[in-house]
Amino acid sequence: MVANNNNSYEVIVVGGSSAGLSAALTLGRTMRHTLVLDGGAPRNKPAGHAHNLFTRDGTPPAELLRIAREQLVPYETVKLQEGYVTTATKTDSGFLLTTQDGVQYATKKVILATGVKDDLADIPGLQELWGSRVIHCPYCHGWEVRHQPVCVIANGEAAEHYGITLSNWHNDITFLTQGESTISTATFDKFKEKGYQVKTAAIASLEKSGSGVKVKLEDGEELTAGAVYYRPEKLRFHNSLAEQLGCDISPDGVVTVGAAFDTTVPGVFAAGDLTHPGLHQLYMAAMGGHLAGTNANRQLTQEAW
Ligand SMILES: Cc1cc2nc3c(=O)[nH]c(=O)nc-3n(C[C@H](O)[C@H](O)[C@H](O)COP(=O)(O)OP(=O)(O)OC[C@H]3O[C@@H](n4cnc5c(N)ncnc54)[C@H](O)[C@@H]3O)c2cc1C
Repeated sequence: MVANNNNSYEVIVVGGSSAGLSAALTLGRTMRHTLVLDGGAPRNKPAGHAHNLFTRDGTPPAELLRIAREQLVPYETVKLQEGYVTTATKTDSGFLLTTQDGVQYATKKVILATGVKDDLADIPGLQELWGSRVIHCPYCHGWEVRHQPVCVIANGEAAEHYGITLSNWHNDITFLTQGESTISTATFDKFKEKGYQVKTAAIASLEKSGSGVKVKLEDGEELTAGAVYYRPEKLRFHNSLAEQLGCDISPDGVVTVGAAFDTTVPGVFAAGDLTHPGLHQLYMAAMGGHLAGTNANRQLTQEAW
């Protein structure tokens, strides 16, 4: 164990949500001097409740993080701090991280747990309803609107994917392609067989209606739905820290990690949504954080041996 002074740590975890706090718990239990720096914008913040979560189904996202922070209190080698890391560089003894307010922190190991951002399409009302009545994942939020009519903003292969997946939750599905349909003929025929509708007019607005959503199309048609499914086409990193450190980014646009959640840069680990293009679930993030924490500790132990 290395003494912690002058803003110097054994591990710095960047991002203090599911992945980051899970890593911190493991590092606390291995008595590593750890700093968690967090910008305070977890991806599921707009959602009222988190679902499909062992022992915590239906808990508000902020409450999950409150419990996670509370459970870190006994581990005195772990410090949680608000702060947004803007730069990360390699040094002879490890890494130097600098926050937005200019404070520098030295560390032997880094765990990137900064998640991804959803780039929402420019549709009036979408931002306001995102995470409540506009949902992206039926595993997370489908049960609450099961058997209700829904709209799906998707075209082409994304529509096909949603069509198959949602058939387990909904019978009455209207696809909104926002322009000419690129859905394959075979899928289109299957949609017809299932009674699904496809509308190509652009969406004028999304508004609350009762407990659901009113969808106004630019051709004047109005639809009501229990929810609108929508998945942003692009996910973006919150920052360029992985690139600054020289970590390999996969063709899918995520940080490449090995089985130990180690990146291609020795001493840098990554966990959570920024390490895989799908499987964006709280448990997956927590699992990655746990393994990144375990392996950062293992490296430190082996180096000191
Ligand atoms: C609307 C919505 C609802 C969802 N609902 C569910 C659900 O019900 N069940 C489920 O299992 N999954 C759900 N998910 C998925 C889940 O939110 C993610 O899988 C999970 O949040 C990923 O955790 P993470 O720790 O990787 O990243 P995040 O939770 O996104 O946390 C990243 C953290 O890093 C911080 N950060 C970013 N950059 C920096 C920086 N430079 N310096 C310091 N801190 C930084 C951010 O501020 C943030 O606090 C939902 C997702 C969305 C979008």
